[in-house]
Amino acid sequence: MPYSYDDQNIFARILRGEIPNQTVLDTAHTLAFRDIRPQTPDHILVIPKGPYVCFDHFAAEASADEIVDFHRTAAQVCAMLAITPGEGGRGYRTVSNAGEDAVQEVPHYHMHILAGRPLGPMLS
Ligand code: 5GP
Repeated sequence: MPYSYDDQNIFARILRGEIPNQTVLDTAHTLAFRDIRPQTPDHILVIPKGPYVCFDHFAAEASADEIVDFHRTAAQVCAMLAITPGEGGRGYRTVSNAGEDAVQEVPHYHMHILAGRPLGPMLS
């Protein structure tokens, strides 16, 4: 079944300016902002501005400009937080939950960037 996008989801409302957020970066196609319930000292959510439900929906249907802008913005967030290993940073984890088994809470595609403390093995 093709995805249908619910434009009342919380991130759609953030993109429309109906709900405040702590913006880190705002570009043509992408918004990065702090998670309201941070799991690490730095917990950033990166979202496309377009109506995509989850990773595979975004990868299949977004334009090349949107996809490049999304990833470059995420990388810029890492650079701003000084967590990029190639620049001497201590590193980070990216996570994207899709669907019920992954307990995706918000049905608008987002990448979590988790950093600021040792994260341990991924599934611990
Ligand atoms: P998911 O489980 O869908 O991968 O993650 C959704 C994330 O969105 C959670 O980490 C949750 O804390 C965050 N979140 C939910 N509502 C809001 C909100 O209104 N503002 C912000 N900044 N984050 C939110």
